[in-house]
Amino acid sequence: MESTKFLLDEKAIPESWYNIVPDLPFGLEPPLNPATREPVGPEAFAPIFPQEIIRQEVTTDSYVPIPEEVREIYSLWRPTPLFRARRLERFLDTPAHIYYKYEGGSPSGSHKPNTAVPQAYYNREEGVRRLTTETGAGQWGSSLAFACGVMGLECTVYMVRVSYDQKPYRRIMMETYGAEVHASPTDLTQAGRNILGEHPDSPGSLGIAISEAIEDAVGHDDAKYSLGSVLNHVLLHQTVIGQEAIQQMELAGEYPDVVVGCVGGGSNFGGVAFPFIRENLKNGRDTRIVAVEPASCPTLTKGRYVYDFGDTAGTTPMMKMYTLGHTFVPSGIHAGGLRYHGDSPIVSALVHEGLVEARAYTQNPTFEAGVTFARTEGIVPAPEVTHAIKATIDLALEAKETGEEKTILFNLCGHGHFDFSAYEAYLAGELVNLEHSDEEIEAAIAGIPG
Ligand SMILES: *Cc1c(COP(=O)(O)O)cnc(C)c1O
Repeated sequence: MESTKFLLDEKAIPESWYNIVPDLPFGLEPPLNPATREPVGPEAFAPIFPQEIIRQEVTTDSYVPIPEEVREIYSLWRPTPLFRARRLERFLDTPAHIYYKYEGGSPSGSHKPNTAVPQAYYNREEGVRRLTTETGAGQWGSSLAFACGVMGLECTVYMVRVSYDQKPYRRIMMETYGAEVHASPTDLTQAGRNILGEHPDSPGSLGIAISEAIEDAVGHDDAKYSLGSVLNHVLLHQTVIGQEAIQQMELAGEYPDVVVGCVGGGSNFGGVAFPFIRENLKNGRDTRIVAVEPASCPTLTKGRYVYDFGDTAGTTPMMKMYTLGHTFVPSGIHAGGLRYHGDSPIVSALVHEGLVEARAYTQNPTFEAGVTFARTEGIVPAPEVTHAIKATIDLALEAKETGEEKTILFNLCGHGHFDFSAYEAYLAGELVNLEHSDEEIEAAIAGIPG
């Protein structure tokens, strides 16, 4: 029988995270103070992040050692398996070889604990007692709740009201891990009270929840804030995915011609792709790197590469990134994790410089790809991942046209076990292919300051 899974021993869990920044053939532009437009130093982040996280955010070291305690907790689900999708290949009748790295076996069911655990660890080491954060559908909140639990920290999650009401199971998961979960906007913060004063029935938004979580952290000496994507230190922590995948592709006796990932804030994509981009830059490899996003939130494919705020309220430092404008409200698609107006500054720069190519797809074709995957490979993918699967299937069908034996690797960054209402809508033919008109996108982009 031919191998389906390529498994590593626990000893193969990487000992360091890989930092792509010193290997980039171009410089990154610094964050700017929103008031003065002067570059902000790392100290600007001190009220919300611990020192070690701030150091990692700006480090130019190529590798950052992973603390032994973090590696030990990683061993609860790492190394994650690499699969060869032989049944999908046969279904597509393609000469392409398709591989996927599966991060859905983690406690919360996605890649997010890869960064939640080290973030909780550094906070505890620096004497922090409680972490605050926001969550939309709950993938990040449940990952941080788990991480705080294992590190003995308290965890306060501001969960967007509409998700809190409509998606109770992620909330219950967070509470099971010991977190305190509030429907945002709350009357516990000034930011929340301001919104409730004007809109007592506000459904909330990620932007509002971020403002509440930051206000809570800044207002309490023993609390800090934690972010699950976008920033450099988050992408750094996710590089365990790509580093393991390189070892596993070697076990399979192949090397990918294409690496594919879905992009919301860029963390699972950076996690799988950066170690392979390093091979392109340093070791003469020539792998195509493909980032996939929803057509309803086309940050990389239709956004502008300029300075913009990270949050809706416009209070965070400004970052140079692809953005649709911080006031852009993406349509209510089911891939909630991909609904962000901006993107990781590193991923944005890589797209801008042509080292990464970006594609966008609408909902129905991606869910169709997700269902095809579930019916051939068995795993029901999170709606976010179906974007990467759609691109992978398209690439495999192109290879069939040209008769090329391409090797494709994609990151299956989470399962869809909390997302069956989305599959229900797809199967009932009730999903709409939401896209924004060019005029609407132009109007939001016109609102970017400067
Ligand atoms: C959060 C999440 C995403 C989007 O975040 P990235 O930082 O772009 O990875 C994608 N897929 C899943 C399963 C998620 O939980």
